[in-house]
Amino acid sequence: PTDWDFDATAARRDRYYAASLTRFTPFRDPIVFRKGQGQYLWDAHGRKYTDMLGMNVCISVGHSHPRVVAAAMEQAQTLTHCTTMFYHPTPAHLAEELAATMPPGHDWVVHLTNSGAEAIDLAMTMARTYTGNLDLLALRTAYHGPTAAAQSITGIAGWRHPGMPGNVAFVPEPNQYRGIFGPGTQPYLDEIDRTIASATPGQVAGIVVESVQGYGGIIEMPPGYMSGAAERVRAAGGLYIADEVQSGFGRTGAHFWGFEADAVVPDIVVMAKGLGNGFPIGAVVAKKHVAAPMAERFMFHTYGANPTSAAAARSVLAILRDEGLQDNAHTVGGAFLERLHDLKDKHAIIGDVRGTGLMLAIEMVSDRDAKTPDNDATTEVFEASREQGIILSKSGPFQSCLRMVPPLCLSLEDVDHVVKGLDVACQKAADRIGR
Ligand code: PMP
Repeated sequence: PTDWDFDATAARRDRYYAASLTRFTPFRDPIVFRKGQGQYLWDAHGRKYTDMLGMNVCISVGHSHPRVVAAAMEQAQTLTHCTTMFYHPTPAHLAEELAATMPPGHDWVVHLTNSGAEAIDLAMTMARTYTGNLDLLALRTAYHGPTAAAQSITGIAGWRHPGMPGNVAFVPEPNQYRGIFGPGTQPYLDEIDRTIASATPGQVAGIVVESVQGYGGIIEMPPGYMSGAAERVRAAGGLYIADEVQSGFGRTGAHFWGFEADAVVPDIVVMAKGLGNGFPIGAVVAKKHVAAPMAERFMFHTYGANPTSAAAARSVLAILRDEGLQDNAHTVGGAFLERLHDLKDKHAIIGDVRGTGLMLAIEMVSDRDAKTPDNDATTEVFEASREQGIILSKSGPFQSCLRMVPPLCLSLEDVDHVVKGLDVACQKAADRIGR
């Protein structure tokens, strides 16, 4: 067997990776990818797939985009690594370009990090340092990363492990489909006030909000929620921290940043994933005065501003602009959402269709009126889609959502292919589970 033999690779992975490393389940058979280009992947047998997962939202401008590869290669051949302790033009340019994407009227400063979770950790520390308060608010069904601190603000039980730091209070996610207060904004905002009053000393470090929850099953914040949350938290001495790890870089279509859907200017913005198009890089972009108090102690990320990832990230920003990918996400995502609604009309196992731009989901239920999450149907649609060359992702607190976060270069022809595939997959799933 070669490295491209599915079974040999699966056996090696299963033997030598720690069992704690989640597999991309529930694929019944392992899948070994060999090649990616644009919105497509090819497995080791040469089978083509449409990557509706964007390799977990990392692939913003397309797999192995030639401009990104060339930028990284050229930099790696010249000087692969140089830490932030020294000066190098590439990460400095990147910091300037990221700051320029932020709302005007503030001085923005940048920390480049290795990953999203490291950026989240840093944002938490920054908020606690700046405010002098320890308590943070986070949303249920939020996901913020695998480090201990990021887990401590993650509101999905399956992603939380022992030993997380404390000083975190959770507020209910304003899920318009199955949130505890039903649709609307105000009751969820009132709950922020109640939580501050009942579960904190009254003064908080801040609130961390994914502008659109990703692992939570594509949960958009309803109108006025982000600005209302910022107002309430600021009244208690805290900061508003936007997690744009999934929702940033034009993915939501209408805006470059997810928070721009509301009249809120965050104090700290956390980003990663799509920034590097697969190269490891994250960033914390903060108002200058918010980042300032941390300067009293040392802070340093070995790989954070490495010129190779920074060169890749700079080319990503240029490609997003040159190829009009935010507009593409808006147009193609809008058409896709309409077609998903048609699918819902046709298939009773689909309980909800939602999202914005190329950040969409369908939620599977066994009873539409009771909104009973249906894990079996989700698994079957997931498997049947894979059989037709479509890679989806299961997510949501009940693993009942199929999340679609493809590369932003997805075309209308791809949408047609995926919708037809989903149509067949929903029928097959309903047949298999006898509905
Ligand atoms: N925040 C969000 C919203 C995420 O989806 C993720 C990763 N899935 C993270 C933070 C953590 O990023 P990373 O995996 O790069 O540490």
